[in-house]
Amino acid sequence: MLDQRLDGRIAVVTGGSRGIGRGISERLAAQGAVVAIAYRERVDAAREVEAGIRERGGVAWCGACDVADADSVERFFARMKTEVGGPDILVNNAGIARDTHLMLMERARWDEVIAVNLNGAYNCVRATMRHMLLKRWGRVINVTSPSAQMPLPGQANYAASKAGLIGFTRAMSRELAGKGVLVNAVSPGLIETDMLASMSTSARDTCMKAVPVGRPGTTQEVAALVAFLASDAASYITGQVIAVDGGLL
Ligand code: NDP
Repeated sequence: MLDQRLDGRIAVVTGGSRGIGRGISERLAAQGAVVAIAYRERVDAAREVEAGIRERGGVAWCGACDVADADSVERFFARMKTEVGGPDILVNNAGIARDTHLMLMERARWDEVIAVNLNGAYNCVRATMRHMLLKRWGRVINVTSPSAQMPLPGQANYAASKAGLIGFTRAMSRELAGKGVLVNAVSPGLIETDMLASMSTSARDTCMKAVPVGRPGTTQEVAALVAFLASDAASYITGQVIAVDGGLL
C-alpha cells in the first residue's frame, strides 16, 4: 500500500516558524518526519514550534536561515546536515509581500520580494539537490499563490515571484523526475496568518467575496496537502500546481 506516513524522512520547512509554514512543520512531524524549521529572525516563534512537536513525541530542530542570502542558506544546511541529516523533503514556504502600486515600487522593494520568494527557493534547491540525487529520492514542494495568475493591484513584485516559482517548479520537475525527485507547487488561497492580517480590509473583503467556500482557509488545510505530496502516496505526481483555495481560481 502507498503510505502517507513519513517515518524515516527528514524534512526542512523554510519559514516553518509561523503561519502556513508552522502548520506544515507540525503536520510533517505528526506523520513521522524529522522536521528542521528554518526561520529568518523570530527565534522565539521557531522554538515554540520545535517544543510543541517534541512534546507530542515528534522530532524537530530549528535554525536561522535567511533564504534570500546564499551564504546563510549554506550555513544552515551545513549545520542541519551535522545535527539532523540531509533533507529528503524541501518545502519552500518562506515568503513576503510588499504590495505597492507599480508607480511607487522602487527597485529595492521589487528586489526584496524576488530575493526571498523566488531566489530563496533557488538557493535552497541548490543546497539540497545533491543529497536528494545521491539518494535517488526527494520531494520539493514550492508554496506559490493565486496571485501568480490573478494578482491584486499593487502585487507586481509578489505576482512575478510566485509566477516564477510555478515556472521553476515545472522546469525542475522535468529535469528531476527520472532521478526520483518529484517537484510540485501548492497554491493556498486566503489563509488566516499574519500575512493575511497585514492586507487592507478592502482588499481582504474583495478577495473573500470571490471564495466560493465562503471562508478563509486554515494552515492545517494547506499542510494536509503538502504532507500528502511529500509522501509515497503521491509517487506519480510531479510538475503540478495544486490549489487549496476554497474554489477561488
Ligand atoms: P507569514 O508572514 O505568516 O510567515 C512567514 C514565514 O516566512 C515566517 O516564518 C518568517 O520567518 C519566514 N520568512 C520570511 N522571510 C524569510 C526569509 N528571508 N528567510 C527565511 N524565512 C523567512 O506568512 P504566511 O504563512 O501567510 O505565508 C507562507 C507562504 O504562503 C508564503 O510564501 C506566502 O507567499 C504564501 N501564501 C500565503 C497566503 C495567505 O493567505 N496567508 C496565500 C497564498 C500564498 P520569521 O518569523 O523569522 O520572520
